[in-house]
Amino acid sequence: MLLLAVEEAELAHARAYADAVGGEEVDLRADPWFADDLAGGFVIEGGFTLDAMGATSAMAEAAQRAGVDFGLHCEAKRILLERGRVRGLVTDTGVVSTERVVVATGPRLRFLPRTAGVDVPVTASRGWLLETGRVDPPPRYAIEQAAWPLQDEMAALVGAPTVGEVAGGAGDEPGIVSLLLGGRPGGHCLIGTSLKRSLLQEPETPATVRRLAERAVRVSPVLRDVPVVAAWSGRRAVTPDGLPVVGSLPGVEGLDVAGGFSSIGMVTIPAACRRLVRGGAEAFDPGRFA
Ligand SMILES: Cc1cc2nc3c(=O)[nH]c(=O)nc-3n(C[C@H](O)[C@H](O)[C@H](O)COP(=O)(O)OP(=O)(O)OC[C@H]3O[C@@H](n4cnc5c(N)ncnc54)[C@H](O)[C@@H]3O)c2cc1C
Repeated sequence: MLLLAVEEAELAHARAYADAVGGEEVDLRADPWFADDLAGGFVIEGGFTLDAMGATSAMAEAAQRAGVDFGLHCEAKRILLERGRVRGLVTDTGVVSTERVVVATGPRLRFLPRTAGVDVPVTASRGWLLETGRVDPPPRYAIEQAAWPLQDEMAALVGAPTVGEVAGGAGDEPGIVSLLLGGRPGGHCLIGTSLKRSLLQEPETPATVRRLAERAVRVSPVLRDVPVVAAWSGRRAVTPDGLPVVGSLPGVEGLDVAGGFSSIGMVTIPAACRRLVRGGAEAFDPGRFA
């Protein structure tokens, strides 16, 4: 993995990040894949790109083997309570009787617990990705630009705006673009990513696609003539302090959440959810926002 400072202003943060994870400085001017005026780079051994769809499919398969039934294309609408205890869940396909519900609905985490009278302060941010055709020569590294905020800085950037802030144009802010680039086995690349407040389900601000392409071309001359074959966006769930919410919700017996995994859920969710089952998730207690 290569931690990249594109501009001089990013160098101090990149150096501190590299020091924390054991990165070694490299001279990128010797590598023709990169533009020759980048501020600096640090190689981190052992960092790699995870295939998100492959990992998700593998987890779903493992869950199914362990006895999980998936109710696909079935939305949960309402949690049913009796004297402060969970008794069931209203879904598109009917009412499920149950004494325990774990809400893990990602950026929509706030909505279902509200039907049980609990407000969990999770908001949504949007990120865009581009997919290219074959990149030749391929990047030697999984590349992360050191312009991405720390988790505890996220809420200040993309937390829920007030009505007054939206009236003042908060929804129109351009957001942050920070290059995240990984080569895939098919020879193509995924180019990300961005961070912006999101109030709509629909893919807002497609103009970000252009900013991502500009950043990619700024970093590597090789990418200039590579075809872009797709662009899409997704949403991430953000909590006020940047830590996830994992555990039971105060005031309702039998109601848990597992969410707020922000921009690092692919790598942190398995361990966080193991803690939900086996204990050790105290730092993520949703009660801290009660
Ligand atoms: C552009 C982008 C780049 C990212 N890059 C990385 C990265 O490099 N590394 C990393 O670790 N993470 C990354 N992430 C973050 C990662 O994808 C998330 O943290 C992770 O997917 C969160 O998982 P989740 O299960 O909590 O939520 P989600 O993956 O959002 O899943 C929630 C599910 O709940 C369903 N749902 C919602 N409401 C209901 C309802 N009422 N009833 C039934 N189902 C419902 C949704 O349809 C969805 O399937 C990225 C995210 C984006 C958008």
